[in-house]
Amino acid sequence: MQIKKVTDTLNRPLRDLRISIIDRCNFRCQYCMPADLFGPDFAFLPKSELLSFEEIERIATIFVGLGVEKIRLTGGEPLLRNDVHILVKKIASIEGVKDIGLTTNGVYLPKYAKELKAAGLKRVNISLDTLNDALFGEINGRQVGTKPVLKGIMAAKKAGLEIKINMVVKKGLNDHEIIPMAQFCKDHGLHLRFIEFMDVGSTNGWKMDDVITKKEIYQILKSHFDMQPANPNYYGEVAKRYIYTDNGVEVGFITSVSEAFCSTCTRSRLSANGQIYTCLFNGNGYDIRDFMRNGASDEEIRARIIEIWNGRTDRYSEERTAETARQRKKIEMSYIGG
Ligand code: SAM
Ligand code: SF4
Ligand code: SF4
Repeated sequence: MQIKKVTDTLNRPLRDLRISIIDRCNFRCQYCMPADLFGPDFAFLPKSELLSFEEIERIATIFVGLGVEKIRLTGGEPLLRNDVHILVKKIASIEGVKDIGLTTNGVYLPKYAKELKAAGLKRVNISLDTLNDALFGEINGRQVGTKPVLKGIMAAKKAGLEIKINMVVKKGLNDHEIIPMAQFCKDHGLHLRFIEFMDVGSTNGWKMDDVITKKEIYQILKSHFDMQPANPNYYGEVAKRYIYTDNGVEVGFITSVSEAFCSTCTRSRLSANGQIYTCLFNGNGYDIRDFMRNGASDEEIRARIIEIWNGRTDRYSEERTAETARQRKKIEMSYIGG
């Protein structure tokens, strides 16, 4: 059996894999894991339900055999899991892996950046939605100021990791921080990516009116900075990228709501408990963990992944309406990590 090569909307090549390695987090960002719903009694996954590093390595190796070149580790907060560098090393040694990234809130980077880099990690995406301490504390739901994240950014820089800063923009919450964040990142040579607020999961109270679109953010930026479009780096690149003309620093947009990119969506996701999702907005995943734990061979797992990928019809961002956002059951972001 082969992965189909056709690249119309419903038949896309499999190129990258995003792996959530833990569903827990030290933050409770209001657009992701609102504190009132993810309280002290929230039942996160017990360790036995999480994929072990060996299981992740095995599944990742099979995915790479099917065309995956880029792997990103995420969560929850991935650095809450012990010894992530060991997993990075395992993934880096899979033949065919060209790129390994990690998405993190940055708090534990001062502790781990150096060993992650030594293990083979190439890049980190660090989430920061404002430079204002009080607002940041309100957004992360834990009243943590920006300092730990800024220290994380510095540690990643010192370790030699490539860095992107992810800023989710929500109308009325942090849109006034667009220019200060852009200026800060530009001055420090950091690639900032503005992410449109999305209706992931069913707990973040998303409304279309809360979304500031790429077009709106771009207009705000244009009034302060000279920018020019950058050419896409590769097929299926998710970010629309620009360059500041005076210093060449990049700035990008993830336009998941206003300009859907489903027709070139080459990403599969593996949740912390070993379910495959072919779309960020799926309600249910396809089990691979129990299949594997019940003795499936590599060939059987491979055949199952091919069947799942070839049967893929998802294009949620092209179909989204206020109605689907409200009614459709969708996996929570903390399980599949964006
Ligand atoms: N904890 C890590 C972090 O925050 O970077 C990794 C997991 S987090 C779920 C991955 C990314 O998803 C972060 O950049 C976060 O800002 C983004 N995200 C979470 N909820 C979102 C939402 N409702 N809309 C858009 N992006 C969101
Ligand atoms: Fe945690 Fe990241 Fe979600 Fe914030 S966005 S609650 S840091 S997983
Ligand atoms: Fe891919 Fe689903 Fe996002 Fe479309 S909505 S780009 S299919 S993850």
